Amino acid sequence: MHRILPRSLPSGLEPLNDLALDLRWTWNHAVDALWRQVDGELWDFTHNPWVVLQNASQAQLDQLERDEAFLERLKTAVDQRRHYLETPGMLAGHSSGDMPNGIAYFSMEFGLSEALPLYAGGLGVLAGDYLKTASDLGVPLIGVGLLYREGYFRQTIDSAGNQQEAFPSNDPTSLPIQPSVGPDGAWLELALPLPGRTLRLRVWQADVGRTRLYLLDSNHVLNGAVDRGITAKLYAGGSEMRLLQEVVLGIGGWCLVDALGLPVEVCHLNEGHAAFAVLERARRCMHRRNVTFQEAWWETRAGNVFTTHTPVPAGFDAFAPSLIRKYAQDLLNDCQLSLRDFLALGRIDPADEDEPFNMTYLALRGCAQTSAVSKLHGQVSRKLFAPLYPRWPFDEVPVRHVTNGVHVPSWDSAPADELWTQTCGKRRWLGDVGCLEASIAACDDIVLWDLAGRQRRDLVQYARDRLAMQLGLRGETPASIAMARRVLDPNVLTVGLARRFTEYKRMNLLLHDPQRLIDILADAKRPVQLIIAGKAHPADEEGKQQVRAWVEFTQRPDVQGRAVFLEDYDLALAQRLVQGVDVWLNTPRRPWEACGTSGMKTLVNGGLNVSTLDGWWAEAYDAACGWAIDGHGGNPEDADCLYRLLQDEIAPCFYERNDHGVPQRWVERMRASMSRLTPAFSSNRMLLEYVDGFYRPALRALTKRNPGELVAWSDAMSSHWHEVRLGDVDVTLDDAHWRFHAQAYLGGLNVEWVKVELYAEERDGFPRQSIPMSQGDAISGAIGGYMFKASLPATRPASDYTVRLRPWHQDAFLPAELPLVTWQR
Ligand SMILES: *Cc1c(COP(=O)(O)O)cnc(C)c1O
Repeated sequence: MHRILPRSLPSGLEPLNDLALDLRWTWNHAVDALWRQVDGELWDFTHNPWVVLQNASQAQLDQLERDEAFLERLKTAVDQRRHYLETPGMLAGHSSGDMPNGIAYFSMEFGLSEALPLYAGGLGVLAGDYLKTASDLGVPLIGVGLLYREGYFRQTIDSAGNQQEAFPSNDPTSLPIQPSVGPDGAWLELALPLPGRTLRLRVWQADVGRTRLYLLDSNHVLNGAVDRGITAKLYAGGSEMRLLQEVVLGIGGWCLVDALGLPVEVCHLNEGHAAFAVLERARRCMHRRNVTFQEAWWETRAGNVFTTHTPVPAGFDAFAPSLIRKYAQDLLNDCQLSLRDFLALGRIDPADEDEPFNMTYLALRGCAQTSAVSKLHGQVSRKLFAPLYPRWPFDEVPVRHVTNGVHVPSWDSAPADELWTQTCGKRRWLGDVGCLEASIAACDDIVLWDLAGRQRRDLVQYARDRLAMQLGLRGETPASIAMARRVLDPNVLTVGLARRFTEYKRMNLLLHDPQRLIDILADAKRPVQLIIAGKAHPADEEGKQQVRAWVEFTQRPDVQGRAVFLEDYDLALAQRLVQGVDVWLNTPRRPWEACGTSGMKTLVNGGLNVSTLDGWWAEAYDAACGWAIDGHGGNPEDADCLYRLLQDEIAPCFYERNDHGVPQRWVERMRASMSRLTPAFSSNRMLLEYVDGFYRPALRALTKRNPGELVAWSDAMSSHWHEVRLGDVDVTLDDAHWRFHAQAYLGGLNVEWVKVELYAEERDGFPRQSIPMSQGDAISGAIGGYMFKASLPATRPASDYTVRLRPWHQDAFLPAELPLVTWQR
């Protein structure tokens, strides 16, 4: 392979390049020792093998080339990698039938490792875990994202407790990525038309085991200064810059898919930022097949999948119509679309000239299938999007859900990895994980309690070292740095509290009554200790104030080192925390946490969750596995509930020891939580649900549909729908059955193209029902008038049922692709 190497290695060490550039090292810790041997200091500081390789001294490399033991180790690592890459994944070989040959996964953020900091929070971490899982399972997926010159900011705290932000620049030569090479052997470049100019994009690639992530970069010498800055920063700049980023991600991203020549059938939008991809996909299809835009839109939409992540409308990206007009001109001309029709794709009310263009609405309209990220978030989303599906019941708004999961091998501790390997084998996370529950459930009490102890000790040690370094950088006195080495206690119940300091997460809930918290921490018999971490957005004054409040709290003399604030929450710190805490605390305001994933990361390590019943915990919670903060939503009530849980239930459970010194009730919870919840909230389960519930149906529809026929069908619906109405409905009771007869007048519509149904809501213990009615005789004298009838057991009142009429086509996703419906008056 042609590769532009920043450094040439002694020939015996060449294979180190491929190892360093395959981000599989982020979850395969068998090779850590190798990097430590190349340069221990660089490795410990950066955990970035590529940096280790670029910066190790030449003398050291020359010496390693002659070190037989090292070369032997290297060979083993190379063999193991080859074995991983060559062993077909669980889903490889299934590519016949309805398994897509290619899926492009678009995301504004990817959190694969702190060595490639292209993420701000949960959305990115999820995307990173998704790529790793695709590699493990052999799902033919590529990632498409942006290469930011500055990732999210790095946090330090000054001596007054204020958050300070630093924006170190990502030097591409120190990132574990490579220029992507085009078919002609040169660096792959794309050109996008922008008003008055051409934007050039360079393409980079990151290898993630079997999966590849492509990153677009506008920092090209032929771009103007402003354009070079489009991919400068993650989530920074005004609305226009954000729009440009989304143009690059969506339009540029789909151009890239085309340029790569890969057989991509499914386009998956991880959040609405990349929604322009569906337009570019349709535009290219239009030219390739020489059809109208409408036909291309219907053809390609079957292959588009959207995952929404936001439970509040304020979280959706929306742009002023004037901005859209400025940047959409080229697309409009090319597709022969009017500006009004284009804007309508991103509006609830196409007639409202002032309504901004909403990327989430575009994604909903441009993707045949949509998912939310937890069961509760599914319900919330169906309500939120109901205006796009007028007169459809909330429950039928076409948004399903796949609850997020985490890539378990990225989050397990070394001792937990050992334990799971002993009980469930080495290949446990490479396939279906449903069968793992029994093995870990059989684990011995002492084994589990030892695991908790070892992990807690490691975390306490890590927190002390990190705190000492932090205080040193802050310029604290030698005495207080020395004190840092004595904070926390490896035998005390350890609670972790780490996430973005954003209002709905209520990071200050535990500080509601500081004295009460101190009483809990300093309890003589049952002490508790806290490790806190998290960044506030640079513009979020309230969040920064909460950071300050926590830092000040940890410095109170009466806290006695039982609470510490660790700076610069990132993937690396998150890994350490979820590997060592006994309890992971989460306090979002329901229903603002669409899913939340950090609590899932503790499961494999035996950490227990205590959380409000929001996001994933609303479906995972079970008293046998953890605790629920079930106040009544107000801060004082929830805080009171949390204090009481800590004091009356969690701490007693932890400190109540049997004759072997084991807290039996605690260990039972660990066992239940580890065995039941780890597989259920793993990304293996998540990705398999997407494959079976979304990707396969997408490919089936894509292969089967006749776009010309669907366009004719939907055009007929749109032009004749005003003629459609339901007439009299007649119901009789006969032999314990309801017999319904309904008159339907279809105007100019073909009777095969609609469906008449009896609909009943969920009520009085009866489920939601929609029962197809069969077509009877034509109504004499009426053009397009038919009788429809249905017979059903009279188990629930006839008045529960309403007759409705809807468009029907077996190859369409409905009501997603044509949300019309008429109800009995
Ligand atoms: C997992 C993770 C998140 C997301 O966690 P939430 O529970 O959704 O808050 C955010 N940041 C980092 C660094 C993470 O590892």
